[in-house]
Amino acid sequence: MKKVVIIGGGIAGMTVAKTLIEGKANVEITVLNSSPHYFSGPSRPLLLTGEQSLDRIVRGYEEAMVRGVRVITGTVFSIDPDNRKVKYVGGYASSGGTGELAYDYLVVAPGVVLDGSNIVGYDKYRHKVANVYDPGRVHVLKNRVWSAERGRIVVYAPKAPYRCAPAPTETALLIDAVLRNRGVRNRFEIIHIDANDKTQPPVIADVVSQIYQNQGIQLVTNQEIVEITDTEVVTKSGERYKYDILALLEPNRAPKFIEEAGLGKAFVDVRGPQDLRHPKYDDILAAGDAAALPFPKNQEIAFESALFAANKILEMEGSAYRASVQYAFVGWAYVGNPEGRLETLSVRFGLDFTSQPPKPTKDPQPKREYTAAKDSWEQSYLANLFGYK
Ligand SMILES: Cc1cc2nc3c(=O)[nH]c(=O)nc-3n(C[C@H](O)[C@H](O)[C@H](O)COP(=O)(O)OP(=O)(O)OC[C@H]3O[C@@H](n4cnc5c(N)ncnc54)[C@H](O)[C@@H]3O)c2cc1C
Repeated sequence: MKKVVIIGGGIAGMTVAKTLIEGKANVEITVLNSSPHYFSGPSRPLLLTGEQSLDRIVRGYEEAMVRGVRVITGTVFSIDPDNRKVKYVGGYASSGGTGELAYDYLVVAPGVVLDGSNIVGYDKYRHKVANVYDPGRVHVLKNRVWSAERGRIVVYAPKAPYRCAPAPTETALLIDAVLRNRGVRNRFEIIHIDANDKTQPPVIADVVSQIYQNQGIQLVTNQEIVEITDTEVVTKSGERYKYDILALLEPNRAPKFIEEAGLGKAFVDVRGPQDLRHPKYDDILAAGDAAALPFPKNQEIAFESALFAANKILEMEGSAYRASVQYAFVGWAYVGNPEGRLETLSVRFGLDFTSQPPKPTKDPQPKREYTAAKDSWEQSYLANLFGYK
């Protein structure tokens, strides 16, 4: 029986595993995931307002294992493409030693790392950096925003592509709502510094810009942060911004072992959006945020790329089964609550890549029901991939 090894038990990795099982592929599937649980991303920003709790967005792998997927807790640190081997170090829920797995097919789906190594002062002042991207750091940000008395809050978005395009604007607007709720908004300045020419995703940049104006949030575009000090951030053009609270997202990239294995630079090279094999290796495929795709990095695209990757393995194995898939997504961006109620509103947007040029859609009217729709959508992914609600 052929061995499929999947690096990363997130949206893309678990979708590949599930699809291979649904397609009755005659393969042994092993998922390597760095922790024994998965934290879902999309509603993490709502931890800031207390509208989401961690228990609703964390899942274990046990029910997926019941379905026939072997899951090993381990962090991959090396791939040897010529000898078809993967090396990992075991974590909590394993012996903790190093291990090696041989594969016939390798699916690389570890998502992204937040890489601040090119920002001067980052190592020294990393404790100053909090954001909504990590479950621990979002709690730090929450504590800082709920306890500060006054000052300046700097929110930063690096150059795209980074995962979840609207998350920095969501951060700024949720912080605005919390400060209004506390009755202290007039004691704070909120500045969003963006390395891009407009807030991401571009399809709702005009909507965000209008809401920022209404809420008194300052937007500075085309400014890349290159240095952090104890009290300031410095941009490439030499502008200095004092901060009291820093909600900075580091530039995103795939983990370094991918570059070291010659599989790509910032992200894993693929032949194309529908053929996710590495250009040099038929037996290595990428999926999800780690893949170098010409699309935004979000959950729908991660899911769709994983279906294409699974379909390719099924094809190479001579199976007739194909999951139905095309590239298109709908998303909801949190826009806070203008009156400071901890009842977040959202706007809806989407991009359909099946037409050329890709067809954007949006409803610029913030609605409470869109926040509920995003929650149901996220929960259905978790139930589907991890086997329980
Ligand atoms: C704060 C936040 C908000 C978001 N909001 C939205 C949204 O509103 N809409 C939307 O569509 N998307 C959103 N996303 C993005 C979405 O969560 C990602 O695009 C999606 O999870 C990508 O799937 P993936 O499988 O590539 O990566 P992930 O789901 O992150 O899975 C990667 C897995 O690989 C594991 N891993 C990493 N490195 C290794 C290693 N070396 N060895 C073994 N395992 C490893 C990780 O632990 C993880 O479990 C958001 C993400 C975040 C963080």
